[in-house]
Amino acid sequence: MSGRIVKIALDSPLDTEFDYRWQPTANEPEPQVGQLALVPFGRREVIGVVTAIGDASDYDATKLRDVIAIHSQLPALPPQWLALCRFAADYYQRPLGEVMLPCLPKGLRTETTVALDRALKKRAAAAMPAKPPKKSRIAKASAEAAKAEVPQATLPPEAGIDAEVPVPLSAPTLNPGQQAAVDAITASEGFAANLLFGVTGSGKTEVYLHAAQSVIAREQAKGHAAQVLILIPEINLTPQLEASVRARFPQTQVVTLHSQLAEGERLRHWIAAHYGDAAIVLGTRLSVLAAMPALKLIIVDEEHDPSYKQQEGLRYSARDLAVWRAHQLDIPVVLGSATPSVESWQHASTGRYRRLDLTQRAAANAQLPRVGLIDMEINKAPDGLSPPLVAALRARLERGEQSLLFLNRRGYAPVMHCDACGWISNCRRCTAFMVLHKPERRLRCHHCSLELRIPQSCPTCGNVDLQPLGRGTQRVEEHLQVLFPDARVLRIDADSTRRKGSAQAAFDAVHRGEVDILLGTQMVAKGHDFQRLTLVGVINPDTALFSQDYRAGERLFAQLMQVAGRAGRAAVKPGGEGNGARAEVLVQTRYPQHPLYRALLAHDYPGFAQATLDERRSASLPPFVFQALLRAEAKQLQSALDFLQAARDLMSCEGIMINDPVPMTVTRVAGVERAQLLVESNSRAQLQAFLKPWVAALREQKSRLRWSLEVDPVDI
Ligand code: ADP
Ligand code: ZN
Ligand code: ZN
Repeated sequence: MSGRIVKIALDSPLDTEFDYRWQPTANEPEPQVGQLALVPFGRREVIGVVTAIGDASDYDATKLRDVIAIHSQLPALPPQWLALCRFAADYYQRPLGEVMLPCLPKGLRTETTVALDRALKKRAAAAMPAKPPKKSRIAKASAEAAKAEVPQATLPPEAGIDAEVPVPLSAPTLNPGQQAAVDAITASEGFAANLLFGVTGSGKTEVYLHAAQSVIAREQAKGHAAQVLILIPEINLTPQLEASVRARFPQTQVVTLHSQLAEGERLRHWIAAHYGDAAIVLGTRLSVLAAMPALKLIIVDEEHDPSYKQQEGLRYSARDLAVWRAHQLDIPVVLGSATPSVESWQHASTGRYRRLDLTQRAAANAQLPRVGLIDMEINKAPDGLSPPLVAALRARLERGEQSLLFLNRRGYAPVMHCDACGWISNCRRCTAFMVLHKPERRLRCHHCSLELRIPQSCPTCGNVDLQPLGRGTQRVEEHLQVLFPDARVLRIDADSTRRKGSAQAAFDAVHRGEVDILLGTQMVAKGHDFQRLTLVGVINPDTALFSQDYRAGERLFAQLMQVAGRAGRAAVKPGGEGNGARAEVLVQTRYPQHPLYRALLAHDYPGFAQATLDERRSASLPPFVFQALLRAEAKQLQSALDFLQAARDLMSCEGIMINDPVPMTVTRVAGVERAQLLVESNSRAQLQAFLKPWVAALREQKSRLRWSLEVDPVDI
């Protein structure tokens, strides 16, 4: 027997690392842990990650197949990255290969190294100190201006990534609250979890940027490289943050990592992170799994945002992995939000996280907007907009100020209905309604994407007078155009922004003041710093109050605080001139006495969080219990339920409570029936100890039915 045994993680549902043989050759060095290897797998050739090298195998060594090639042109993935993947695999109960491989850019996972070699060539070319990159005069001047303030780059910016340096925004002097937060974050070099609780407009971005600058400068002074990872919920919705980061670090390589990058770009950005070229990585949840050898600080902006949770494949929480990663690396992490998740709030109250508060808006004299409730029992609104809201809109139009209307439901109407026979626009493939999309003249299912032409008449009785029921953004837009024919109304939702770049263009128009009334779904609620906005109207958010989902209230409150936080952000000049002074938020509700709205009126997140946590504690809900959810899908609902029942009977364990299998709320999607089984424990460790053998036993069964496990599920 010659050669060595190499263990390799492959993207396969088999929960094992695979043994291969590596034959030494004269001109190739021995493989290293963390390198990518091409190996035969069944009849295919696939890429895997080397996880161990040794001389023994548990398998018949004579039957092992040979490694085809080691992609040694790429430096090995570092041990800290392997440890992170191992933790995620363990915690979320996934095979290691199914964690490692999917989080690598596609260009690294193909049999050929064409894409990799091309990307490495570009990198080498960019690092050559040949011609200085051509920059516009203004960019050059601004870069000079910024030099005084900013720690300098370790490497020149890679051509094509940030060759166009935007004009730096001048860094404002931090206010005392911001300064205290930056000091606290940067005081320790070791692990500390900081919960930056800052009201909307309090200048959290400045805290992130200064903390990043300070950490990079500190490491450079010691002659070390430093990298900062900034996680953001959605790249499209935070273009301002990206611009601010680039502007503030004009000499530093800043790369973005998100799923909308073209493959080549994503690979080059990933490589810039992996080599440590990029001092700042700005990315969505997937970037928490990027290899960053010199990572010294992690920032999670809007840490409460649901998009940090991946809902397929490896169902991870990027926020939770960020905290784990910081702990593992012994570096600080910052979780920022005006409305932290109640989990994080709870950690802060027990002292696991350190709370840093920003209680004031940062711009001069800017105040939090006044919040008012419009009682919809008194104010009838046949078209969705009550008289007080219409009057408030009119006043803004007269003063030339902007308004934002928030309605978290796209389409024209959520359902069509026949008064004559009771027909209703059910989707034939899902337990859901087909939504009326009037401009597109379609009925659309938002679950399975089925599209139909709007029927001319009722499919059952022939009645030609079909009625839309309820109200979506398109319908309100139509009504606004009737009410205010001269106003410039812009709707922003997933339908109006399908084309690449169109969301950005729409937001730019708002910033330029080319829009009077902005209307949209949660897309308009997040992060934007709209300077001209003085009115936010919220149209009928009540449905979330009575949802079965115990997190619905928390999500609604966060959304309302966020959207309310868009108003009155501009500075107010002495004498009271400026938008911040008369900013107003009006919420149309039929339950003005509801505690959630009372807390909103008072801008009282801590009160709301405490009440929510008290409820959760007495109802034994997270974060006071730990949960995992087993889901099954089948053509017949009964098969899915039977599978779950069998899973339930498979094992029992003290301290573990397994609920009865139940159909999911939206039971059928695209013709597939779905059911779930909730597993709970008071102890995270106990739950983990149960899940491991249980999932292994489920895998053993080799059921043909599709199933998945989610640890710490968010939608139940
Ligand atoms: P948040 O993310 O907390 O909602 P932002 O970071 O968007 O708030 O900041 C809100 C506004 O306040 C921005 O226009 C920003 O430029 C401004 N700002 C931040 N810090 C300061 C400061 N120290 N002095 C003056 N303005 C500031
Ligand atoms: Zn009918
Ligand atoms: Zn459907």
